[in-house]
Amino acid sequence: MKLLKLSFLFTALSLLFVNNILMAQEHHEATVKGLDPDSVISWLKKGNTEFEKNENIKHAIDPKLRMELAKGQNPQAIILTCSDSRVSPELIFNKGLGDLFVVRVAGNVTDDAVLGSIEYSAEHLHTPLIVVMGHTNCGAIAAAVSDQDDKDVHTADINNMIRTLTDKIQQAVLFANEKDPDPTRNALVSNIKYNTAILRNTHPTLSNLIQKHELKVVGAVYHLETGKVEWLDK
Ligand SMILES: [Zn+2]
Repeated sequence: MKLLKLSFLFTALSLLFVNNILMAQEHHEATVKGLDPDSVISWLKKGNTEFEKNENIKHAIDPKLRMELAKGQNPQAIILTCSDSRVSPELIFNKGLGDLFVVRVAGNVTDDAVLGSIEYSAEHLHTPLIVVMGHTNCGAIAAAVSDQDDKDVHTADINNMIRTLTDKIQQAVLFANEKDPDPTRNALVSNIKYNTAILRNTHPTLSNLIQKHELKVVGAVYHLETGKVEWLDK
């Protein structure tokens, strides 16, 4: 009987050990170097489906991983997205510490500081994918659309610093030439496409990496209500 108990204990411990290894491997898939851009998109899609369905949610923040990452980072995707408190990339894509290089600014617009941050990850950390991700019910987009509709009424409502953002979004709407009949959706998608184009075409370091197929830039919309990420580029 004692032997049987020991045997059961041994089996249970073995299962626990194997399970821990599998969990470690599952997370480690994210930190393996050299994934191509399309594989990273699939990896993000899988994480977003898990988040959307609230299944297999992992909070990869254990002390061992933290110590390992202190030696160096190897993020697999750069996410340029809005500062909105409901749009947290690590949660939306079900990823952990060290997985994503995140740049956040209201309205997910680009400026020199944003471009410099993105360039650092793409060039020096060899991150193969940039996702420009806007979201539904975005305050910055709403302000830009409202200001565009009726400049006289709304000009006084938007102070100068916020205007820096809305001006950029309005500029994006003019350049992107989207034709969505819903002005808010039109501005949301135009802003993503415009900033995606800036990253693809106006920055020599990034353009060079794209030409060598070492980097891809894609656009996406995060839907607050459903938790789903809609991919704008195939
Ligand atoms: Zn927003």
